[in-house]
Amino acid sequence: MIEVLTLFVPGRPRTKGSLTPMVTPGTGRVRLTDSDDSKHWRRVVTAAVRKERERIGQYGPRPMLHRRVPVALALTFLVPGDPIDHEMGDLDKFERNVLDALSGCDDTCGRFCGKHAGLYADDAQVIKLLSEKMGPRADVGVVIQAWRADQ
Ligand SMILES: [Zn+2]
Repeated sequence: MIEVLTLFVPGRPRTKGSLTPMVTPGTGRVRLTDSDDSKHWRRVVTAAVRKERERIGQYGPRPMLHRRVPVALALTFLVPGDPIDHEMGDLDKFERNVLDALSGCDDTCGRFCGKHAGLYADDAQVIKLLSEKMGPRADVGVVIQAWRADQ
């Protein structure tokens, strides 16, 4: 495996899927949406990964690892409290948020959608995933390591 990216993203890790009921103006319908904390964290991760891609000269409109490349990831989430406390969040939901942030834009995205960092094109490319939750830590965030799994 060849390492393609390693970075630390500071900020408290947030889960994807902690849905909040929202009333749609006009129709009055209730729909479920990700919490603002969750969306904000995802944008922080996206911005940090894009910046790192720029730093290593791998930033562009296309995903860094194209659709046919298998990817391995190691994610270490540093949380502010005891990692087994319910309030710290579920590990698989932390994973979901970061995996989505690392994927590429699709046809429905704007040019700078802020939700996709484009490390790879599609979450399906991730064939290996090792993740860990650690705490309590003052330096909260996530360490992301990515490898091409085909070389
Ligand atoms: Zn996008």
